[in-house]
Amino acid sequence: GTPKYSGMVEDCCCDYEIVDRLHKEVLYPSLQELVKTSFFRYFKAKLWCVCPFWPDDGMCRLRDCSVCECPENEFPESFKKPNRLPLNDLVCQEGKPEAAVDRTLDSKAFRGWPEIDNPWTNDDETDNDEMTYVNLQLNPERYTGYTGPSARRIWDAVYSENCPKYLSQESCQEEKILYKLISGLHSSISVHIAADYLLDEATNMWGQNLTMMYDRVLQYPDRVRNLYFTFLFVLRAVTKAADYLEQAEYNTSNPNEDLKTQSFIKQLLYNPKLQAACPVPFDEAKLWKGQSGPELKQKIQHQFRNISALMDCVGCEKCRLWGKLQVLGLGTALKILFSDDDQQNLGQTLQLQRNEVIALMNLLNRLSESVKFVHEMGPTAERISEGH
Ligand code: FAD
Repeated sequence: GTPKYSGMVEDCCCDYEIVDRLHKEVLYPSLQELVKTSFFRYFKAKLWCVCPFWPDDGMCRLRDCSVCECPENEFPESFKKPNRLPLNDLVCQEGKPEAAVDRTLDSKAFRGWPEIDNPWTNDDETDNDEMTYVNLQLNPERYTGYTGPSARRIWDAVYSENCPKYLSQESCQEEKILYKLISGLHSSISVHIAADYLLDEATNMWGQNLTMMYDRVLQYPDRVRNLYFTFLFVLRAVTKAADYLEQAEYNTSNPNEDLKTQSFIKQLLYNPKLQAACPVPFDEAKLWKGQSGPELKQKIQHQFRNISALMDCVGCEKCRLWGKLQVLGLGTALKILFSDDDQQNLGQTLQLQRNEVIALMNLLNRLSESVKFVHEMGPTAERISEGH
C-alpha cells in the first residue's frame, strides 16, 4: 500500500522515503559506531541540581533516591507537609537497578577544548566540581518507571509555559519550529521507553512494548512527523558544522581509537549518498527574516533556556541525564544554525565545547534510533493496536 508518511517532511528539504533509505544505509550505521568511541561515550553533566521552579518540591534532592530506601521517619521534613505530591509518586525510580547511573570513567578522554557558553541553554557549561562524568554506553535511555504527576508537570511546563501550543494562523514559523523540536524530542524519548521496556518485573525481562509505542506516538501522526523534522533539523546542524567537526580534536590519548573516531566523523559528514540525496536537510536561512526577527530570536532563545532549566527538575537521575544531554544537543544545533555571525564565515567563528559536540552527536544518534524504530516497527505496532 501507499506509505503512511510520504512526500516532503514539513518545513524540511527531504522526503520521508529518502530519509528512511539514507538513514538505513548511511547514517544509522555510522552513528551507532561513533557513539561507542571513547570520545563520544563520556558526557559531563551537573546531575545534582536545584530546580529553579518548584523550590519546595524536593525532587531534585533525590539524587540517589535514598527516600525509597529510608523508613518514613527519615524522610526529609519537606515531604511530610501537606500539598506535596502524594508519597507514592516519589516511589523510588533511581534506587532500582535499571535506573542507576553508572559513572565509570576513562579519565584520559578529555583534553583541549574551548570553554564557552551556549546562549541557548541554562547551564553554565564550564567545568566545575559539581559536574560528574557519565559513561553513556552504560546508561542507555530506556524505561525507568519515572511517571505520574512529577513527570507530567515537567512536560506540561515545557509545553504550556515555554512553547505555546501554536494555532496555525497565529504563530509564526519560528515558534512552530520550537514546538516541533520539543515534540520531536518527546516522541523520541517515548519511543526509547517503549523500545526498551521492563515487561516483567518479577523476571526482570526487558523488551519492546509496541502497544505503548502506538499509544504514545504512532497514533498521533504529528508526533511522528515532528520526530522526522527534529532528526533533519539536527542533521542539518551537523552537516553545516562539518568543517569544524572534521578538524576538531578527538584526542583521548589512544591513537587507534582516535583515528576511528575521525573516520566515523568523516563517513558521516562527507557521505556522497547523503550529499546527493539530501544536501540541505533543513533550510535555516529563511528564518528570522521579518522586521521583528531579532526580537523574536531573543524571545525564543529565552523560552529554550527555560526548557533547559526545567531539566533540573526532572526527578529521576537517568531521565535527567538524557534530558540534559538532549536539550544541550538541541541547544547546540540551534547555536550552529542561528549563531549571530555572518553565516558565510561559520567555519572561522563557530566555537563548540567538547560537551556540546558529544551532546549533539548523541542526540542525533538517539533521534536516528527512533526514526529507525518507528519505520521498522511502526506497521506491526499499528496492526496490533488497531486490531487487524
Ligand atoms: P507523557 O510522555 O508524560 O506526555 C504528557 C503529555 O504530553 C501527553 O499526555 C500529551 O498530551 C503530550 N505529548 C506526549 N507526547 C507528545 C509529543 N511527542 N508531542 C507533543 N505532545 C506530546 N521516562 C522513562 O521511563 N525513561 C526516561 O528516560 C525518561 N526520560 C524523561 C526525560 C524528561 C526530560 C522527562 C520530562 C520525562 C522523562 N521520562 C522518562 C518520563 C516520560 O517521558 C513520561 O513522562 C512518562 O512515561 C509518563 O508518560 P505519559 O504517557 O503520562 O505521557
